[in-house]
Amino acid sequence: MIGGLRGAAASKNGLVVLSAVERTYQGIPPVHALRSANLSIGREDYVSLSGRSGSGKSTLLNLIGLLDKPTAGSIMFNGIDTSVITDRQASVLRSKNIGFVFQSFNLLPNRTASENIALALLYQKVPKSSRMILAQRALDRVGVLDRAGAFPGQLSGGEKQRVAIARAVAGQPALLLCDEPTGNLDTSTTRNVLDLLDSLHEEGIAVVIVTHDFEVAERARRHFVMTDGVISEQPLMTRHEPQDHDGSNSCAQGRPQ
Ligand code: ADP
Ligand code: MG
Repeated sequence: MIGGLRGAAASKNGLVVLSAVERTYQGIPPVHALRSANLSIGREDYVSLSGRSGSGKSTLLNLIGLLDKPTAGSIMFNGIDTSVITDRQASVLRSKNIGFVFQSFNLLPNRTASENIALALLYQKVPKSSRMILAQRALDRVGVLDRAGAFPGQLSGGEKQRVAIARAVAGQPALLLCDEPTGNLDTSTTRNVLDLLDSLHEEGIAVVIVTHDFEVAERARRHFVMTDGVISEQPLMTRHEPQDHDGSNSCAQGRPQ
């Protein structure tokens, strides 16, 4: 049973391992959104992914999150070769292991904060008796339990993103995938949300975060840059060009896009 493999020792080569993964969108002309990507994400990783708009970041995140399939190459998730499993099995694997957070929050407007989370748990086949308890626990974990009965329209941007993060982690995923999660937030709210992601990472969730923002990327421990569908791991570029002792700035490298 695929879901039962969560946490298995099968991960010695990484939680998610991409080998020569390509994603081409059909059309005239076709779009080669991802070219020969090799990438391994471990259980304790905290990864940033930067790059210009249209460079393929969301394409990669959707593949890592098993929302989409490569047109070439393979993706191993928790030791399972996802190219040989059915869509239904992929969906089980995803719902048991992966949480998603998006820039636009994607909360259902006519459901309260706790109902939004409980509904996500329903899709994860959590028994009804546990859903509300887990939803309240998740809201407590992200610091907005007092807003449990509020509808998204009654929440601030930061509160909405906390609820969305609570929804993403309520089922205790191994991996949290965040696509520009602070894109709609002001600077101080961004910092609060990043502090929350830091603490979730410290509690044992692997985090992948797509961002244009240096302050966001610098929270991560590994940094990838996407350029026209090609991914490369790079040291994080420094924002303030640090001075060496002799006054030179030999390690300054600019900033990510
Ligand atoms: P990013 O997230 O870095 O902005 P995307 O992964 O969304 O980039 O897109 C990468 C490229 O693939 C872009 O050229 C985009 O127009 C194209 N693309 C993305 N999704 C589709 C799709 N469903 N069909 C066709 N082309 C797509
Ligand atoms: Mg994108």
